[in-house]
Amino acid sequence: MMETIKNLLIEKFKFIYNDLPQKFFFAPGRVNFIGEHIDYNGGKVLPFAIDRGIYAAVKFLEKDVIQLCSNIDEKIYEIKFDDDLDQYRNTHLWIKYPIGIIQALKNQGFRFKGIAIYYWSNLPVGSGLSSSAAIEVLTAYVFYLQVKAKNQIDRVQMAILCQQVENQYIGVKCGIMDQFSVAMGKKNHFILLDTHSLEYEYIKFLFPNVSIVVINTNKPRKLSDSKYNERRTECNLSLEILQKNYKIKSLVEASEEMLNDLNSETLKKRTLHVIQENRRVQNIKQLLNSLDVSRKDLEEVLQQIGKFLYDSHESLKNYYEVSCYELDVIVEESKKISGVYGARMTGAGFGGCAIAIVDKRNVEEYIPLIAKIYRERTNLIPDVFEVQIEDGVNEL
Ligand code: ADP
Ligand code: MG
Repeated sequence: MMETIKNLLIEKFKFIYNDLPQKFFFAPGRVNFIGEHIDYNGGKVLPFAIDRGIYAAVKFLEKDVIQLCSNIDEKIYEIKFDDDLDQYRNTHLWIKYPIGIIQALKNQGFRFKGIAIYYWSNLPVGSGLSSSAAIEVLTAYVFYLQVKAKNQIDRVQMAILCQQVENQYIGVKCGIMDQFSVAMGKKNHFILLDTHSLEYEYIKFLFPNVSIVVINTNKPRKLSDSKYNERRTECNLSLEILQKNYKIKSLVEASEEMLNDLNSETLKKRTLHVIQENRRVQNIKQLLNSLDVSRKDLEEVLQQIGKFLYDSHESLKNYYEVSCYELDVIVEESKKISGVYGARMTGAGFGGCAIAIVDKRNVEEYIPLIAKIYRERTNLIPDVFEVQIEDGVNEL
């Protein structure tokens, strides 16, 4: 698999730049297993990096020029390191992502040689698997490696830099989870990340007989940005109201008894989701930590984890109101298929992807079946694929 992609990158690079690449890199996409919409409420999230992502083929150049090309449009864009890079902030082109990173590194005082990069991706774009974080972290890593040794790169700092670029240069108010997962992913492990303190621990996902399946609704996510900002505002408002009477620093510290202080049904529902979703993350953490493969009740533990996924979805649908018909169809129909332990929407919502955990013995049946039913009920063709839990960004 890896060799095939490397060969493809070499062919493409030759065709585009009429030259051979010297180095290859990969930055994964990410899936959030559970802990949705609490990353900006001080909660803990449980994401992992996946085996799909963005690759880069790279050649260092003698001349002082940065050449960028991607499978998105297969055009070469040329910039100079000393150009005013701020001018690309408002472009609708994808190059604003790498250029934003290059500008941030420049502002930190780094100087770089010329470089030609070809990006190629097998990660759906704009579907909530964080292709934006992947291209940011990938670019930062490629450039850092010009001035630092591999083990000198502080991956957490790199994630923070990329998040700042997405917030300030791209103008998307995302939390730290995406960039952190892409930079810090670990094979076969979930990352339990405290989004408030940035403390984290790796939790082994110890189920050799279970597959994690991603179902991309392929529904255009039109509403998602405005609704995302609306939810953030609602959470801030709830926190402000509660802080008048309670000593809490973030909304996840609230409790059900406090809900009476919120005078609107909407704010009550949003807060209830935040409180309960954070608790589900804690519960799954305890379940995973208590595991050992020799346990006889592995099956039962999986059922419990699956139940938390279903509960999470229900809460995102009814209390947080960020699901949509297509995501609900996937979860509802998955529930009926044998071998499925749990399913839920993942990411910001209103489209994007859902995940399901499925018994390995049933996964070959599940994938075409859910695709067929989904198509019948929505008229959309989904992408359905199994994912592996992978390491964060690396040179290949
Ligand atoms: P998500 O992060 O959920 O995939 P975003 O809207 O945050 O969606 O980011 C998508 C943007 O990231 C794309 O519009 C494009 O500008 C950039 N991007 C994603 N994949 C690539 C790629 N392979 N090459 C170049 N740019 C990419
Ligand atoms: Mg994104």
